[in-house]
Amino acid sequence: MYRTHNCGELRIGDVGKTVTLSGWVQKARDKGFMMWIDLRDRFGITQLIFDENSSSKELLEAARSVGREWVIRIEGEVIERSSKNDKIPTGEVEIKVAKLDVLNASKVPPFTVEDDTDGGDDLRMKYRYLDLRRTPVRENLFFRSRLAIETRKYLSGNDFIEVETPNLIKSTPEGARDFVVPSRLNPGQFYALPQSPQTFKQILMVAGFEKYFQIVKCFRDEDLRADRQPEFTQIDCEMSFVTQEDILNTFEGLTKHVFKTLKGIELPDFPRMNYDEAMKRYGIDKPDLRFGMEFVELNDIIKSQSKGFGVFESAELVVGICAKGVTSDYSRKKIDKLTDWVKRPQIGAKGLVYVKFEEDGSIKSPIGKFYNDDDLRAWGELYGAEKGDMLLILSGELDKTRKQMGELRLEMGRNLGLMKEGDFKPLWVIDFPLLEWDEESERFHAMHHPFTSPKKEHVEMMLNGDHETMKSLRADAYDLVINGSEIGGGSIRIHDRALQSKNFKLLGFTPEEAEAQFGFLLGAFEYGAPPHGGIAFGFDRLCAVMNGQSSIRDFIAFPKNNTGRDMMIDAPSPIHDEQYEELYLESTVKDEAEV
Ligand code: ASP
Repeated sequence: MYRTHNCGELRIGDVGKTVTLSGWVQKARDKGFMMWIDLRDRFGITQLIFDENSSSKELLEAARSVGREWVIRIEGEVIERSSKNDKIPTGEVEIKVAKLDVLNASKVPPFTVEDDTDGGDDLRMKYRYLDLRRTPVRENLFFRSRLAIETRKYLSGNDFIEVETPNLIKSTPEGARDFVVPSRLNPGQFYALPQSPQTFKQILMVAGFEKYFQIVKCFRDEDLRADRQPEFTQIDCEMSFVTQEDILNTFEGLTKHVFKTLKGIELPDFPRMNYDEAMKRYGIDKPDLRFGMEFVELNDIIKSQSKGFGVFESAELVVGICAKGVTSDYSRKKIDKLTDWVKRPQIGAKGLVYVKFEEDGSIKSPIGKFYNDDDLRAWGELYGAEKGDMLLILSGELDKTRKQMGELRLEMGRNLGLMKEGDFKPLWVIDFPLLEWDEESERFHAMHHPFTSPKKEHVEMMLNGDHETMKSLRADAYDLVINGSEIGGGSIRIHDRALQSKNFKLLGFTPEEAEAQFGFLLGAFEYGAPPHGGIAFGFDRLCAVMNGQSSIRDFIAFPKNNTGRDMMIDAPSPIHDEQYEELYLESTVKDEAEV
């Protein structure tokens, strides 16, 4: 028998019991006449004690022989600890060991298997099984499991059916690059791995399922960041006979349910903001509402004051934010640093103008020679600025400047500690543009995907409007944003063939191309497709955001690194010559990749 109890279970009430425990040696402390071992399993840590007076020589020797991460089984008596540890639930007791068996030895681990580890990212990924022994990582994965369970409970409680869709399919229209798989049985042909189950879930609506969901792997060959992985998981859903309102309510309900059951947090009703407003007020389509610092545009007041400051007067947009109570903290040097920050190529602003409303009532600004104190005070009034506040202003082209200011606002939020841990601010962003004009390729792209429906009142415009009109089409497309992270997105779909054809045309598909890529779906739509719509949540990201973390990696059991490598199994890797032949492939890098 390996255990009567687990390592997180014993309490003061168990004193006097004889118990058997199994687990890993977290660490040992040897005082010579006495020795302690922290024994760890999935459930917690229990302290073991050995002492010269009562333990046999062999037992002490055995205890001294074990190293970190050895697997042992012990038998002993639960006793009260003389110095208690209130940081762990078992901290009032320890086990006076009578018998110790080594179940397996361990090499010395390449990094410490403790809450705070000294292991770098790649090393931890290479020895992922050791990293997963660390409590914070393990807790993340336990959380993930509970999130999946609660999601299933809520959705199946609301009549959703879980359906699996295939992984070997053809290109899906989410706009990323596909991962492809060569087909041995079909020489020269390839499957694509799904970027999402989009087309299948729509077909399930044609098939009459009405409410579908799936917790599903999706694959996108994109450049990677902390919150992106080449394979990731979605809570994917689709519903028939619904409006946007029904979908928002259902998934607001799901979000509230998981916050309540897993975090004990009752979220109030989610506010909604349309895309245009989000861009105007926050410069981004996923505003972090944990803090204010909303944009105020200055074009009108600048025009009315007309002081000959060309940079502002000729700019398409002059926009600022107000940082409260910061003037004493923001020295010239600190503002210069911030200016350098906005001028970095990643942000791309040409400069940064500040107006400081000092505590002593004076006003400081590098544009003081153009604008007198009264002018600047009038600006301040637009922001409700008080003594101690500072305006930060950018100017230039509308879209670029909004984006830059959006970044600066987030940077100030971080600098001033305004994104509070444990604070959750969900938001629905709705009415996204249907199409996005790409200057470089001179083409429209679907802002969401090509099956997204324009708003009812824009259908006529879409069918008959000119090229410029297409830029102002708005869609029944929506995103759920929490704390500045996009948690999910979806749309009401087009279920009318004429409208779908028009959309493909706008996106630059010839009818033949549309038929070749999506003929199966268009064909299905001719057999009584119900009105439908759906949404997908990023499951990994939801895990991370609910736990106040920005990286999704630690919520994935076996993640990939920044270059898309699995460091543990060492993938991707070369294949054998025979495999090239079998798959009718020719390698251009075969020599280097020789196996
Ligand atoms: N398939 C979409 C996505 O992955 C979600 C949806 O429209 O339901 O973003």
